[in-house]
Amino acid sequence: MNLDFSEAAFGTTASVELRLPVTCTRCEGSGCEPGTHPARCDVCGGTGEVREVRRSILGQIVTAAPCVACSATGSRIPTPCSDCRGDGRVRSSRAIDVEVPPGVDDGQRLRLSGRGPAAPRGGIPGDLYVTVRVAPDPRFERIGDDLLHVRKIAFTQAALGSRLEIDTLEGSEELVVPPGTQPGHEIRLKGRGIPALRGRGRGDLIVRVDVDVPGRLSADEEELLRSFAELRGEEVAAPEKGVFSRLRSAFQ
Ligand SMILES: [Zn+2]
Ligand SMILES: [Zn+2]
Repeated sequence: MNLDFSEAAFGTTASVELRLPVTCTRCEGSGCEPGTHPARCDVCGGTGEVREVRRSILGQIVTAAPCVACSATGSRIPTPCSDCRGDGRVRSSRAIDVEVPPGVDDGQRLRLSGRGPAAPRGGIPGDLYVTVRVAPDPRFERIGDDLLHVRKIAFTQAALGSRLEIDTLEGSEELVVPPGTQPGHEIRLKGRGIPALRGRGRGDLIVRVDVDVPGRLSADEEELLRSFAELRGEEVAAPEKGVFSRLRSAFQ
């Protein structure tokens, strides 16, 4: 079953179309043509197993094996149902509603008890296993129940502080980046992560701040930064000389 990221986070109900053995409606799963009944198996006398007695030097050895004639059911069907030929089930397409709990992760398997294939002649039906495939969301990396969101900001925003609009699973939210924020700094938004599967509470949304250093500067920007470095007494590389060397570095 394919789910998108938020469907997996918050849960959903989705229908899956399956082709599988279902109980035959004509005989209601008995395998007998309507109006007829099963009869006792002649081979095993209705016990479903065949006993064999052998004599050996140690005495009598009794072995029991399932009856092949009646598939160990103890009964046989004198007049098999014309729809299912006595099996009690037919193959059919069926839409099954699957309730996906909040918090499932990619590759997890859900078990739907008794929703699988019908058993022969009205036996207990099997279970249906649904493997969940969750499409990734490029904005979030899932770490357990926490979400990691990496947000690039300008170095001026990191130094002076900023208010950012950030994406959450529910929409967008304002995030305050304090002045002097360092690269790699993480801001934790409590309870904005993935709801715990079969549990209470939610994980957190961790916003990791990635500081972008501009690769190329205009002449004005360079001048400002050079005065800034001078003010702070920081040693920086000497300016490249001439318009040709500037052009060369731009095309490298
Ligand atoms: Zn039938
Ligand atoms: Zn039998």
